[in-house]
Amino acid sequence: MPLLLTLNAGSSSIKFSLTPLPEAPGSPLPAPLAHGQVSGIGGAAARLSLHSNQHGQQVQALPTVSSGRSGHEQALDAVLHWLEQHLPEQKVALVSHRVVHGGVHFAQPVRIDAQVLEQLDALAPLAPLHQPHNLAGIRSAMAAFGQALQVACFDTAFHRQHPFVADTFALPRRFYDEGVRRYGFHGLSYEFIARALKLHWPALHQGRVIVAHLGNGASMCALRQGVSIDSSMGFTALDGLPMGTRCGQIDPGVLLYLLTEKGYNPAQLTELLYQQSGLKGLSGLSNDVRELLQSEQPQAGQALDYFVARCQREIGALSASLGGLDALVFTGGIGENAVSIRQRIVQDLGWIGIDFDAAANAALHAGAHSQGLISRPGSRVSALVLPTDEERMLAEHALALWTAA
Ligand code: ADP
Repeated sequence: MPLLLTLNAGSSSIKFSLTPLPEAPGSPLPAPLAHGQVSGIGGAAARLSLHSNQHGQQVQALPTVSSGRSGHEQALDAVLHWLEQHLPEQKVALVSHRVVHGGVHFAQPVRIDAQVLEQLDALAPLAPLHQPHNLAGIRSAMAAFGQALQVACFDTAFHRQHPFVADTFALPRRFYDEGVRRYGFHGLSYEFIARALKLHWPALHQGRVIVAHLGNGASMCALRQGVSIDSSMGFTALDGLPMGTRCGQIDPGVLLYLLTEKGYNPAQLTELLYQQSGLKGLSGLSNDVRELLQSEQPQAGQALDYFVARCQREIGALSASLGGLDALVFTGGIGENAVSIRQRIVQDLGWIGIDFDAAANAALHAGAHSQGLISRPGSRVSALVLPTDEERMLAEHALALWTAA
């Protein structure tokens, strides 16, 4: 049976899923046979965690990276090896890759060939901490599954409809022309949520919606009739909300100060803004919201206070972009699970028209894996929780190209 493999390759992890391709063209995609991730890539603690319908939960340590193989190649080897052992008669015929940056031109998923790969390489400087890992995943998969159709799906693509004012910075025009724009990210997640709204909450889908994708990376997106018209993220995945280790919106004057007065070089500045800031930097403890919620240290509380305040501020800003608000949707690891953070963000938003329902919010706790309203019936603006599924979007986009091929 031919299989579809989705790959979401990050700096130190690869998330994946394996789904049988439907036999009849046009049939819906079945549920995955297996999904999991390789974490700690390139390090001594690299391991494959996998859940398969047939074989249950499995965790296995990966050997230390051998010379001549990159960590990503080795991670894919481990997935491949598992496949050979457990599903020997299955063959990977289609691979769908999450690619962070599609630049100005890639507004749709695309079949990867040598020319596309070259264009994606050229975009790497726009997302130096993400794109090279995405490309390493693509190259490894092309080597491992030479006959398979390889598809790239872009996090920026969903935002390519932004009006000029939401797509630009106030720099001399030539920078916009050469691609220094507000791209916005988390597009696969927003696309999944827009579709889920259309299916389950069609009246809200037709309106003005803010989606808060709150995870270790966090952003918000303004949707009008399911189309992205603005986003909190900009040129890179640093802008907007504070994140686990990323600073979010910052006065560029701070960066000039660090460069000119504090002797930071570009590499140190990159490390500071991407790895040492956000919740981790502010708390001095952790990037993980669960740990901060459990801590009694005042800095942990202050870091969460800042996160909540910036979320509220962004909701105000994006409501202005939309000219009003009909619904606020929470998703991502924090948005789906952190009951108290949702409560703190929403309970103060009565002024915007949300009549918060604390009991409904508490019922959508971690592990509930469910979706629903957290505003009272009759609330002028609805608030809800919808779990996202980026892997599902990767799979469906690839299937569409496969069917069309
Ligand atoms: P990523 O951007 O890496 O995909 P996730 O969407 O998995 O991140 O979100 C990770 C964040 O979600 C972490 O800060 C984690 O603490 C938080 N989170 C997950 N489960 C819970 C929970 N039960 N309560 C509070 N926070 C949670």
